[in-house]
Amino acid sequence: MSKVSSELAAKLKQSTEFNAEACYHCGTCTALCPMGYEVLPRKLFREAMLGLEEKVKARIPEIYQCLLCRMCEENCPQDVHIAENVRYLRNLINKEEMNLIK
Ligand code: SF4
Ligand code: SF4
Repeated sequence: MSKVSSELAAKLKQSTEFNAEACYHCGTCTALCPMGYEVLPRKLFREAMLGLEEKVKARIPEIYQCLLCRMCEENCPQDVHIAENVRYLRNLINKEEMNLIK
């Protein structure tokens, strides 16, 4: 079972930069990603919002390989700022906040 970080969940909830709460998992973003990501962004963001730190850590390679090209968010019906969310998670990892890297 993945370790739950209430600190991570609270941080994302309070953030004015990270906006994935409106995502309803339609899959449009996945279909348009040139990297062929099956989990970015919808599963990643859900896991992060739930504070599933170990699952987010397991996706660090994809978080850094994301091109930030925004193809995914062009047709997002919920206006989720996907690339900015990925960038936000990178910043958390870079700062070693939320114990995302140990
Ligand atoms: S396109 Fe938007 S609403 Fe649909 S799964 Fe992706 S992020 Fe969520
Ligand atoms: S920003 Fe990242 S997740 Fe979105 S389409 Fe580009 S490579 Fe894929």
